[in-house]
Parts: sequence; C-alpha cells; structure tokens
Amino acid sequence: MFRKILIANRGEIACRVMKTARKMGISTVAVYSEADGDAVHVEMADEAVLIGPAAASQSYLSADRIIAACKETGAEAVHPGYGFLSENAAFCERLEAEGIVFIGPKPKAIRAMGDKITSKKIAAEANVSTVPGFMGLIDDADHAVKIAGEIGFPVMIKASAGGGGKGMRVAWNEAQAREGFDRSKSEAASSFGDDRIFIEKFIEEPRHIEIQILVDGHGNGVHLGERECSIQRRNQKIVEEAPSPFIDEATRAAMGEQALALARAVDYQSAGTVEFIVDRHRNFFFLEMNTRLQVEHPVSELVTGIDLVEQMIRVAAGEKLALRQSDIKLEGWAIESRIYAEDPVRNFLPSIGRLTRYRPPEEGRRNGFVVRNDTGVAEGSEISMFYDPMIAKLCTWAPDRAGAVEAMAEALDCFVIDGIEHNIPFLTALMRHERWQEGRLSTGFIAEEFPDGFSLPAPDAEGRQVLSAVALAVELLRRDRLDRLPGRLAPHSGDIKRDWVVRLGDDYVPATIVEGMVSIPTELDVTIDGDALTLVSEWRPGDAVWKGKVGSRQVAVQVRPVLNGVKLSWRGMSAQARVYLPRIAELDRLMPVRRAPDTSKLLLCPMPGLVVSIAVEEGQEVKAGETLAVVEAMKMENVLRADRDCTVAKLNAKPGDSLAVDAVIMEFV
Ligand code: ADP
Ligand code: ADP
Ligand code: MG
Repeated sequence: MFRKILIANRGEIACRVMKTARKMGISTVAVYSEADGDAVHVEMADEAVLIGPAAASQSYLSADRIIAACKETGAEAVHPGYGFLSENAAFCERLEAEGIVFIGPKPKAIRAMGDKITSKKIAAEANVSTVPGFMGLIDDADHAVKIAGEIGFPVMIKASAGGGGKGMRVAWNEAQAREGFDRSKSEAASSFGDDRIFIEKFIEEPRHIEIQILVDGHGNGVHLGERECSIQRRNQKIVEEAPSPFIDEATRAAMGEQALALARAVDYQSAGTVEFIVDRHRNFFFLEMNTRLQVEHPVSELVTGIDLVEQMIRVAAGEKLALRQSDIKLEGWAIESRIYAEDPVRNFLPSIGRLTRYRPPEEGRRNGFVVRNDTGVAEGSEISMFYDPMIAKLCTWAPDRAGAVEAMAEALDCFVIDGIEHNIPFLTALMRHERWQEGRLSTGFIAEEFPDGFSLPAPDAEGRQVLSAVALAVELLRRDRLDRLPGRLAPHSGDIKRDWVVRLGDDYVPATIVEGMVSIPTELDVTIDGDALTLVSEWRPGDAVWKGKVGSRQVAVQVRPVLNGVKLSWRGMSAQARVYLPRIAELDRLMPVRRAPDTSKLLLCPMPGLVVSIAVEEGQEVKAGETLAVVEAMKMENVLRADRDCTVAKLNAKPGDSLAVDAVIMEFV
C-alpha cells in the first residue's frame, strides 16, 4: 500500500479523497493555487504545495507542476478527483514515466473513452447499445443540417471532446441545427480546445441512468448498480439518486453486463461510470463513459456501503478486488443535491463572493436517516470565478425513497448559507414537487416544470401559519432578552401584551398569546389567525435555525435578522416578518411603499462575465427574441435576447469587455 499520495484537485473532492486516505493510514499532499491559500483542502492535508496562479491552466491543469510537487514531497501516487487532469491520458503517461502511480485507469482506456465518437464506436463493437446517429465528424453548418435531416429531428449536436454538459445543443429544425452547430463548435473550442462535432438522435423523454463499475488489474469486475441523474439543467446534473425509480432488476442486470463488457473491451481498471440514456420504454443507449470518480458517487456508496475511493486506491496499488457481484447488495435509497453558488431566481446565473455564513446540517445517522455533506468550503471561504461554483453535495439516505426525499427537505431547511446566492430554495421546491416525489422524471423535468424559470414560492396556508408562529416566538424572546439587559429601564408597564399582528411580507396575520408567558418560553400556546397551536423550541436569539414544533409539525425555520424584524425561510418559502402591536400594525399599513427603479429600457449584464459579441448597432430596430449580445461566464456562452420589440439607443459595452453583474450593456429608446 502507498505511504503517501498527492491529490491533484481542490474543493470538496480533494477533501473527500483525503478522508479515505486518512482512514487507510496514507499521508496526503494537497496542491493549491494562489487563489486557494486558505482553502479547506489545504488545511486538511498533511502537506501542501503551492503550484501556481489562480488560473487552472497554470496550476491545477499543469502536469509539470504537479509532478514537481510529487517529487518534492515523495508522493508515490496521484488521485486526480474529477475534472482538471482526471481524464487526461497524457498526464497519466507522464506520471508513469516518472514512476508515479495514477489512481485511475490506464492511459489507453482514458484515451479510448475520452473521445465521444471513438468511445461510441468501441461500444458498438462490444455489442453495447448506442444512440442511433452518424458516426463521423460534421464539417460545417450545411453538413450539420444535412446529417440532421437524415437522422431525423430532433437531434443532439455534440462536441466529441465534450464534458460537463458543455458543447451540446438539441435541434428540432434546420435553423436550430445551424445555430446549434455554431454555438457547440465555439463552446467546444473555448472549453476543450477541440471543436470536433458529431450528431446523434435526440432520445425523447430521456432519463439519464448510469452504471457504476469497479474493476481491478487482474480481470475482476463488478457493477454497483445504477444512479439516476435525470434532474438536469442545461444537461448538467443537479440531483442524483440511487437506485433509479425506473429500473427493474432485469434492466439493471442487462445494463450492468453491458457496462462491464465495455470495460473489458478497453482493459479498464479502477472505478468508472458508464452513462446511458433511457427512453420511456426502458430501452437504454450508451452515452459515454467517464473514466474517473464521478461527482455523484456518494449515492452509490450510501446504498452499497462500499467506499469507492478506497477501492480505487487498492486497485491502483495492485490489489485484487475483494468483492464479487453477489456481494453487492443495494440497500435503501440515497439522494444527492448539488448546492451551487448561483441565483435560482435570476436564471441560475453564477453568484460569486464570500460565504459570510456557512452552517451545514448535522451529519450522521439519526432516526434511521443518514445525512452526509461533502464540501470543500467553510464559513469565510470565497467562491471565486476561477473554479466550479459547487459549494457542497448534500446527500441523504433512508430505507425508502419517500424517506430520503423527506430527509433531504429537512436537511436543506437546516442548511444556512449567506453572502452569496445559492440554489437551496430551488432544491427545496424540487423536493416538494409532486412529479419528483412520484419519480416521473426526464432530463427535461426542469424545463418542463419551470418553463418560466424559478421564482420563490409565496407562503401557502401552512407556510403562513408556521412563519407567523415562529416570527412571534422569536420576537417574544428578543423582547424578553432586551428586558433583562442590565441597566435598562423597564420598557413597559409590566403587563404582558397578548394581542399582536405579524406582518409577513404584505400580509397582516393576527396572533394571540393564550397562556401566560414564562420568562424564557420554551413552550408557548398561541392562536395564529384564530387557529390554536402550541410552539415548542429550544431556540435562542442568535441561532440561525429555529428547530422545534409548530402544532404537530416538526420544523426547521431559518432566521436572519433584517431591519426591525427577521427574514424567515422554511421549505423554500420565505418572508420578512415584523411583529407589531395591533395599533402599530394599523399605522404601518398607512406607510408609503418605496418603488424600485425602472430598468425596462436597459440591457443589464445578468452575471459577471466577458462580452463575446454585440449583435446590434446603435439605432437598430430589434424584434423580440433576436440576439442582442453574447456574454461568456464560467465557460458557458449565454445569448442575451430581446424580450420585446425595441430600438437600440446606445451601446455601453464592446466585445472583450469584462462586466460586473447589472452593468449596463446597452440602452433602448
Ligand atoms: P459528473 O457525472 O461527474 O457530473 P460531468 O461530465 O458532469 O460528470 O463532469 C463533472 C465535472 O468535471 C464538471 O464539473 C466538469 O466541469 C468537469 N469536466 C468533465 N469533463 C470535462 C472536460 N472534458 N473538460 C473539462 N472539464 C470537464
Ligand atoms: P457530458 O460529457 O457533458 O456529460 P453526455 O453525453 O453525458 O455529455 O450528455 C450529458 C447529458 O445530455 C445527458 O445526461 C443527457 O441529459 C443529455 N443527452 C446527451 N445525449 C443525448 C441524446 N442523444 N438524447 C437525449 N439527451 C441526451
Ligand atoms: Mg455525461
């Protein structure tokens, strides 16, 4: 076994690998860029080596610097995590030449599977079912239109070197095939430095289901069942689960066999994932193979009890797999939510900045549920524009799917993140969504169920009751504490006020205290809008989450101070709450409302990014839907279109400009 390994990655996956290494008694070396000096993975490692500037190309992607770090520290092996150099065959060869072990497959397998066209050909030869399409390269937009017509619309236009959902477009007609080809090609060139494009049939009502495999260097292999990753946005996974609610034992076995057949065809070793797209009749087609540890691997670990990183390390050290297929048992249900620094109400645009507060839910097993949170950040960490905007991977396990969903909703409620925008409100809404709960999924789920984007749900009847009740409980404790501050004059005549009004957004909710108030109420009888409820909680001023009971419901409500009140959030519903005496509430209703400035005549930059092109000129008339500008952020090209007919008055930005969020790109008449 290795004595020391280097982890050529950052963030949560670097921390994840180190946890297992530590468990196995292996010392760890972290590498970090200038932007990551204070990062959690650096802190966690036994040793850390600075490998270069923030830009990944000069640090995490630099084979030279990583090899130098191995030599400097005497690391015998490198775990690449995912992304960065994890699927880079040339890097593995360099390591091999230096006598350093790569914890992953051999370069030949990486190369064969790293290219989508090549891997599809190999899969077809190994009798793996592949997506129908054209097995060659597409030369230009005209060729794309011709091939798409032959395959039959809809088609998927894909970059052969693609990954991470980038460089692919669905086309339903010729115009889309033309535009899709251009966009995919330019995205592929900038993201992967390789603009080869191919086209295959777009499978309708597709579900993304993938098989986790584990193979050693002695010809032994097993599969660990499937994960379903159908909750995607722009072909990027957001929520994954194991097992899939769609797959029966026979389909699982057939997919597992094909995945292992493909692995044998390329002499695969280590952990790997064979991705399939599954149509509504449970026909499955090979998509691609990821020759690395996958982001969503924890759900497989939770249902099989197998530590995939440990297995990868053992295989890399030459050990024989100690598992046989009959040892693999899938137990219970696991779900993973990817928590991203992005603003769900602004079309999920990246949000960068410092985590002024970061309080994940408690991990571990409780009441038959498991919570696991894989993360690489801590309170005070910075989410920068240099790297992937993922903050954490929150996983829950329960004996059945409904239990795992409920545990996820509860864990999300307890997850407090401030300082940046994040997608927890969206994930919460998803957990409450009926179609998700029923498991009727497709990769189009988000586009179909949230066609106009996501907006924060207003409190429903239950939310109104819970939020008002918690607002009242919080306010009473705040007043109680003020009253007991030393040296403070008695602020009131001593009689307890029983009648209150909770202002929740623009809703005024009458609330009454039924029982006499003890000095610090841990239990309180109230009526909210006429309904009698008992509130029980150990909450103290300053706690970020009010955990307790409202009537018969167990709730975890997030509490954030705002001017003269609190902002409360529960199950994706949030509202500013202010608690008034009835007379003050009456006067409050008379206060004028401040209006937001009018931005309807401006095109604002929706995210921090780089202007790629401006498609219009001053004085030009534009029709709704026409392209105004293209802005690149996080390696994605975002087309900004006119949302109505208008005339361009003034351009304030030009290609190459680097803009902040809300910078004015152009003004309209
Ligand atoms: P997973 O199923 O593990 O999510 P993805 O294909 O979505 O697999 O990729 C996971 C991560 O790896 C993404 O964050 C993406 O940025 C990165 N990645 C994958 N393939 C590539 C590639 N070819 N080039 C650069 N980054 C990649
Ligand atoms: P990446 O390397 O970016 O992960 P994949 O080939 O795995 O690329 O595709 C990513 C996602 O795009 C899939 O999970 C699926 O949702 C969608 N997709 C890809 N190919 C097709 C197809 N032929 N039909 C339908 N959806 C597809
Ligand atoms: Mg994929």
